Amino acid sequence: MSTADGPSDKNIGCAIYLHIPFCVSKCHYCDFASYAGKSHLLEPYLNALLTEIGSASVQENTRRIGSVYMGGGTPSTISPETAEKIMSAVAKKFNPSASSEKTIEANPESVTPERLAGYIKAGFNRLSIGVQSFNDRNLKSLGRAHDSQRALEAFDMARKAGFKNISVDLIYGIPGQTLSEFAEDISKAVSLAPEHISAYQLTVEEETPLWDMVEKGTVIMPEDTLLLEMFEKTVTSLSKAGYRHYEVSNFAKPGMECKHNLSYWLGEEFLGFGNGAHSFINSSRFANPDEPEDYIYEVDTAGRAGAEILGDEKDRVLEFLLMRLRLVGKKLTFKELDEKFFPFGRHDKHGPRPLFDETYRHPLDWISKNGLAEVNSDGFTLTHKGLLFLDDILLEFEKV
Ligand code: SF4
Repeated sequence: MSTADGPSDKNIGCAIYLHIPFCVSKCHYCDFASYAGKSHLLEPYLNALLTEIGSASVQENTRRIGSVYMGGGTPSTISPETAEKIMSAVAKKFNPSASSEKTIEANPESVTPERLAGYIKAGFNRLSIGVQSFNDRNLKSLGRAHDSQRALEAFDMARKAGFKNISVDLIYGIPGQTLSEFAEDISKAVSLAPEHISAYQLTVEEETPLWDMVEKGTVIMPEDTLLLEMFEKTVTSLSKAGYRHYEVSNFAKPGMECKHNLSYWLGEEFLGFGNGAHSFINSSRFANPDEPEDYIYEVDTAGRAGAEILGDEKDRVLEFLLMRLRLVGKKLTFKELDEKFFPFGRHDKHGPRPLFDETYRHPLDWISKNGLAEVNSDGFTLTHKGLLFLDDILLEFEKV
């Protein structure tokens, strides 16, 4: 799956995403389309999800499926029987191969040995556990529903249930978290020997309790220098432990990169089902309504949900860069960009137009001058520094 030039984009295929919006409680920092206290919607939601999957068009269901990912929310709040119903509907409609990656996300508070064994029976071969931290104080300040002991037990249960491909999610930059506490999180994660580790920087999203706390000054977010140290710590510790840094926040044992997320980062097609899910198919983007009630209503009345997200070519270029530049050490060639965005060369029906490297010459010179990328005649590769300043790079491209 990986090469010296970064993860391979061969045979990734179309990705299927299934959204389960239910959570035990709402974490302080979360702005996902996830909800606590809506379990009464479980049945109508499941029915809507099955209807939406069943109504995929012929065009959509002839795609070769590279991966299936059930995320949320907290998918481990649903029973194995429910998970199996959803996976059967996916198998019937899309026929993913037995060997394709099929991930289910789980949170420590909602797993049991029986539940995990049931998910394997339902067809899942990869588990992503939302550990976030092994430090109880930090878990509490995130508003998580589990403690560190429960996280360790969940991992152990998953191995015993038979999951051979497990990813552990960590968060750094938690208010009050020290560098040594985070280093301890990394070493505890490594000691479990998961196949994959994600380490995300905590971001403050609008309309979350964390945002309010920061606004009121009751919580102070860490300084950039500490965040950089934490990022560096992640890269050096995990590299030393045999994990390859293949995306800004993701690390994998050789060959164990998350194929589903690679589809997004490589700009492949994906089909999303459930509230808040997005799809990208036939060069068009679609988004389902965020609220489960709206989603259920749309599917009940129209048989499917979602509206096309309209955007111009510039939006599409920026969206692609936002995802594709996250891949570590993988050169982005001008040929690839021209084929995607300038397929008619210098002349299309609107008349003459420059190719990518001419259109975006200014940001390309800027990232090169600032040591954020190595730019040469056939493409560019972000440097380590460039990965850290991805947002600034995108702002520069946005100015064009
Ligand atoms: S468990 Fe995940 S999806 Fe649910 S509220 Fe917490 S962060 Fe959000």
